Amino acid sequence: MKIAFFDTKPYDKPAFDKFGAEYGVDFKYYETKLNEDTVGLAEGADAVCVFVNDTVNAAVIDRLCEMGVRVVALRCAGFNNVDMKYAYGKIHVLRVPAYSPYAVAEHTMALLLTSIRRIHKAFIRTRDYNFSLAGMTGFDLHGKTVGVVGTGRIGRVFIDICRGFGMKVLAYDKFPAKDLDDGDTVKYVELDELFEKSDIISLHCPLTEETYHLIDGDSLAKCKRGVVLLNTSRGALVDAEALLAGIKSRQVGAACLDVYEEESDFFFEDYSGHILDDDTLARLISMPNVIVTSHQAFLTEEALYNIAETTVLNLMGFFENGQCPNELCYRCGSAEDCKDGKCF
Ligand code: NAD
Repeated sequence: MKIAFFDTKPYDKPAFDKFGAEYGVDFKYYETKLNEDTVGLAEGADAVCVFVNDTVNAAVIDRLCEMGVRVVALRCAGFNNVDMKYAYGKIHVLRVPAYSPYAVAEHTMALLLTSIRRIHKAFIRTRDYNFSLAGMTGFDLHGKTVGVVGTGRIGRVFIDICRGFGMKVLAYDKFPAKDLDDGDTVKYVELDELFEKSDIISLHCPLTEETYHLIDGDSLAKCKRGVVLLNTSRGALVDAEALLAGIKSRQVGAACLDVYEEESDFFFEDYSGHILDDDTLARLISMPNVIVTSHQAFLTEEALYNIAETTVLNLMGFFENGQCPNELCYRCGSAEDCKDGKCF
């Protein structure tokens, strides 16, 4: 089985080589992202293996079909970069629904603690033998209210972590999980109430038409002054311009972003020594109360091996048995995992 692997990074290879060798799957690695210009590299492959910033739009799908490529194997959970509606009936789309919710949830807490206890500032100061504490005052998490939007795999782990810190949790989900609401430490509320009452807001829902710019000027205006915003989900959940305005007006006290609306132009690449051609990102990064990591929340040893193993098993399942439980299907309902394990 031949797989064209796009947007390859050095940290991808060890785990994919290991499971590829074990199951007889031959990965041809390309550093370039998949898009209309690069899709030709998949000629002769049975499937393409793609990540969050590869483009699987109508033109790419048409070309893959022309070349006889039958499968798009996402090595991630989110699939907002795939035109699912267009893919239906043409090409099969497999994904890795879960690989380590702990990796993302723990990174979210790492960002929060770094930000509110000024660890990023202290690290730089003490390296310069500057032991002053001026401007380093933080605040306790204990007793604070965190609003968690999206209480799926990652949201739940993040809620557990927050409870460990003695925080109160206000949760919002389109499909609330009844077992989670104990009426005390975790309470489901409407989105507006979450905005109004949370000291910290963390986003863990998928990017859909409904959640696009969930955080915009209007929602930020409803928030407590000085709210801390955490986004480790998808960039376009937040209107970056509105966030910048909120930072400037002090309505937003701090922001921790592992994802950014226009990240596909920059994230995962080394632009040091270049002029950054995105004024909003550059301005956000320049703020003392904004921390940006470049979509690295997933990046743990455990997650990388889980991703590789599930991707290889997805491909084996599909090509050997004609079935894959992690197939995404438009027909089975709004691009959820296919109930049949084979959508057409
Ligand atoms: P999940 O499917 O387990 O949970 C998502 C939750 O969001 C579900 O409970 C769902 O009901 C809820 N939801 C759906 N639509 C909603 C809406 N309109 N409003 C509120 N809630 C809604 O997914 P997960 O594994 O917890 O992952 C969450 C997100 O994290 C993914 O969609 C992905 O974008 C992101 N992610 C980021 C990284 C990273 O490295 N930064 C890694 C993995 C996943």
